[in-house]
Amino acid sequence: MYVGVDIGGTNIRVGAVDTKGKVHKSESFRHPPHRDENHIAELISGRVLDMEKSGIDVEGVGVGAAGRLDINRGVILKSHNAPTGNSYNLVGPISKAVGKKVILANDATAAAWGEHRFGQGRGIDNMVYITISTGIGGGAIVDGNLLLGKDGRASRIGHTVVDFNSDQECGCGRLGHWEGLASGRNIPRTLAAYLAARGERAEKYAGIKSEAIFALYNGGDQKIRGFVDDYLMRLYAAGVSSAINNFSPDLIVMGGSVARNNTAIFEKGIAMHLLEYGGAERCRVTFTELGDEIGVIGAAALAMDFERLPR
Ligand SMILES: [Zn+2]
Repeated sequence: MYVGVDIGGTNIRVGAVDTKGKVHKSESFRHPPHRDENHIAELISGRVLDMEKSGIDVEGVGVGAAGRLDINRGVILKSHNAPTGNSYNLVGPISKAVGKKVILANDATAAAWGEHRFGQGRGIDNMVYITISTGIGGGAIVDGNLLLGKDGRASRIGHTVVDFNSDQECGCGRLGHWEGLASGRNIPRTLAAYLAARGERAEKYAGIKSEAIFALYNGGDQKIRGFVDDYLMRLYAAGVSSAINNFSPDLIVMGGSVARNNTAIFEKGIAMHLLEYGGAERCRVTFTELGDEIGVIGAAALAMDFERLPR
């Protein structure tokens, strides 16, 4: 079996995955509060060694992580959405502690590989996975190959410019990015800016979270309906259309909590605007069926294919 590790913004999930993509044992825990450089590597190594003690034969470890990475050195770099405040080494210490091959990739890249190996992308050589959660990320498989790029950041789909008129800053510091406008974290301020630009009253929505915005949409709130149908869904459609034009996939699989919790709205909204921006006729858009475990499955799948992946 292979161990998959999914390091998100809030939680770390570790699971044992067999070569059919089935998760046998998995647990999720919050990031440790203190930020000792080696602490996360130690925590993960401890879990892997526990699994071996319980009789699981671990052949390799794959780690998918949010934030900026140096996949060649196996290091998570300091960045705006890095799980800890500083950069820290992962691959070296884990591999030394557990005595296995360890591979590191961006979390969305790992999920893309998981979807390709074990999800709806099975047998599809050209596909893109897009996650809409706290941030927006993606991974692309082109001609059967996982795209990594020189530093593992080949498909930073979330930083596609989807509104060049916007002066809203992305976490990366740049303007008009898909993630900066339409990730779960940023939808509320995009709503505020949208209403302010139209001179509409926004007090009712002060402090509102993304989930509540979608609940109001389902409840028929007219201002929210206008915002979601006329603007927010255009942002997603623009991002998806750009991905289709960049990677020429047969399939786009959407995941991440924001998309998965609101599939009906996303399905309809993206389909509607994709006709304007282009690509709908060339590519099917669907939603992951691998649930919360996709990150773990994807990371483990990377470890399974350690030898054939570009590095
Ligand atoms: Zn950005």
